[in-house]
Amino acid sequence: MQDKWVLVCGLANERSIAAAIAQQLDASGARLVLSYQDQRFLPRVEAVAAQLQQEPVLLPCDVSRRALITDAFQDLQRQNIVLDGLVHAIAYGRLFDADKQAIPVHAQSTEAFSEALQISAHSLAQLVHAALPLLRQQASVVALTYAGATQVKDGYNLMGVAKAALEAEVRYLAHECGPQLRVNAISAGPIRTLAASGVPGFKQRLAEHAERAFIRRNVTAEEVAQTALFLLSSASSGISGETIFVDGGAHLRA
Ligand code: NAD
Repeated sequence: MQDKWVLVCGLANERSIAAAIAQQLDASGARLVLSYQDQRFLPRVEAVAAQLQQEPVLLPCDVSRRALITDAFQDLQRQNIVLDGLVHAIAYGRLFDADKQAIPVHAQSTEAFSEALQISAHSLAQLVHAALPLLRQQASVVALTYAGATQVKDGYNLMGVAKAALEAEVRYLAHECGPQLRVNAISAGPIRTLAASGVPGFKQRLAEHAERAFIRRNVTAEEVAQTALFLLSSASSGISGETIFVDGGAHLRA
C-alpha cells in the first residue's frame, strides 16, 4: 500500500476498529485521511494520529447531514488528494431506552428508525457518491458489518436491520461502481469498543461468542484490520460485493 491514499471514516478513539485499520495501513506505507464525527472526538483522534509513522490528514465529517459530507470532500479536493481506498466504520442507532431496556424494532419511532438507517447504512452510499470523482480506477471500499444482519441477535434489533441494508448496499454499490471500484464488507465478531461498550449485555455476548467460535476466543481489532488491509490491497483484486467474516467461524455454528 506504499504511498496509496486511504480515507478511514469512523475513528472515535484508540479502541475503534478504524484505529486498528489506520495502524495496519500506516505500517504498510499507506497515506491516510482520518475522518471523525465532530470536535468532541478530536483529542482522541489526534492521540491515534500521533502514533502513526506518517502524519495523516484529519477530516471532520458528520455523516448525518449531506452538506457536511459535501464540505468534507471539497476539502479533500482542495488538497488534491486522490484516493485508492475508503473505509466505512460508522454506526449509530438508539437501541435501548432510558431504563436500558432494548427497544423492539416494531416500537421504534420513524425518526429513530430513519436515523439509524441513514447513519449506519445510507452514509456508505453517500460517502461513495461524494468520493467517486476522487477515487482512482480499481480503488477499494470496505464497510464494517455484524452477523446480526442475517441472524437475530438479542439486543441488536434495529442495528441488525441497518446492517442488512448495509450488506445489500455493498452488493449494489459493487455492481453500480464496478469496474472503477470494488466494494466489500467485513463481518466482525464482537470487539469491546466505544460503540459496543454502551450495549447492555455486551460482556455476555463476548463470552458466548468466544465459546461458539471455532478458534475458541474472540477476534481482535488487529485481525479485522489485517483483513481490511487485504481487501484494500490489490491482493484481493478478484473479490467484490462480498461479506467476509472475521469472527473465528462463530456464524457457522448451528
Ligand atoms: P466506534 O464507536 O469506535 O466507532 C463507531 C464510529 O461511528 C465512531 O467513530 C462514531 O463517531 C461514528 N459515528 C456515529 N455517528 C456518526 C455520524 N453521524 N457521523 C460520523 N461518524 C459517526 O466502534 P467500532 O466498534 O469500532 O465500530 C466501527 C464499525 O464496526 C461500526 O460499523 C460497527 O457497527 C462495526 N462493528 C463493530 C463490532 C464490535 O463488536 N465492536 C462488530 C461488528 C461490526
